[in-house]
Amino acid sequence: MAGQRFAELHLDRVQRAFGDTVALKGMDLTIKGGEFVALLGPSGCGKSTALNCLAGLLPLTGGRITLDGKRIDDLPPEKRGFGMVFQNYALFPHMSVRRNIGFGLSMRKTPKQELARRVDEAVRLVQLEEHQHKFPAQLSGGQQQRVAIARAIVLEPPLVLMDEPLSNLDAALRLEMRTEIRRLHQSLGLTTVYVTHDQEEALALADRLVVLRLGEVQQVGSPEEVYAHPVNRYVAGFMGYRNMIPVTVTAQDDEHATVRADGVELVGVKREELGAQAVAAVRPEDFTVVAEVGANTLEAVVEIVEYHGREQAVEARLGDGSQLHVRTTSRLAPGDAIRLRVPVERVLVFA
Ligand code: ATP
Repeated sequence: MAGQRFAELHLDRVQRAFGDTVALKGMDLTIKGGEFVALLGPSGCGKSTALNCLAGLLPLTGGRITLDGKRIDDLPPEKRGFGMVFQNYALFPHMSVRRNIGFGLSMRKTPKQELARRVDEAVRLVQLEEHQHKFPAQLSGGQQQRVAIARAIVLEPPLVLMDEPLSNLDAALRLEMRTEIRRLHQSLGLTTVYVTHDQEEALALADRLVVLRLGEVQQVGSPEEVYAHPVNRYVAGFMGYRNMIPVTVTAQDDEHATVRADGVELVGVKREELGAQAVAAVRPEDFTVVAEVGANTLEAVVEIVEYHGREQAVEARLGDGSQLHVRTTSRLAPGDAIRLRVPVERVLVFA
């Protein structure tokens, strides 16, 4: 089983407005055949709108979508033939697992033997052999989600669209199904567009991330690029830079900036053109608890300690009263006065 491959799907200034609300503000994106692309952003950023525009469920109010040069945004969903997997599974309750999976094929008048063969294969791929004669109500959430995935891939679609497919599952099952989706993607060579608000899920699954905010693309890049080199403070915040320390810029060259807050001096990597005021972004896990005074070292007092197994999540307070989030394997207790060091390349300075 393999999707019909295309070379390139192109979104060209795709816009969608609902009355005065512009949910998608001229989105440009090229998706290559075989890629796994995640659309990532908080609630309301326009992810589902983008996916529904791709699926043909929402007409565009501007721009165009082309598949290998042919315009498709004027085609209805069934003519595009993309597979879709939603959060709520949308299975037919009165049909067995097999009939749910084979439904699309029977609508296409697929000959009986071929239909049976393809359903067998899809059932096997999502490991539902034991459950294939049951009805959806007799299945767990994870099993129902497998049926929904099998139903989408059995049609061998050129593109599979997934809208938060794991959000109704519990944490353990979510991880299991995440690996499953990645495995299917790799073994079938499917092209997938996956919508999520979960940064970790997007990083784990995708070849490329598209970070959206208020209907605008903020950054497109590999998980490594977006994680290590967020282009602005918004993307940084979304990628786990929980500490955004307001600072004054005291010196800068092309690459680095020296910044100061009350009782704190740091050197960091300049990520944008800077004026006098800036923010220094640091991930909780990039601090190290140290004994000696030194460069890029902050003094803080521990307030709250949460036990997380190997690590502790610590909330500390700087001299000026601002709060700091720290993750560390050092054992700390409330009231401890600590020094924290952060390497220059782990401090990102944004305007
Ligand atoms: P979520 O994760 O909550 O689904 P999202 O990132 O998918 O969020 P969208 O559903 O794409 O966001 O919505 C983007 C914007 O468009 C929001 O401001 C939303 O209120 C608005 N919007 C979406 N659908 C409609 C609609 N049918 N009518 C009016 N406004 C809409």
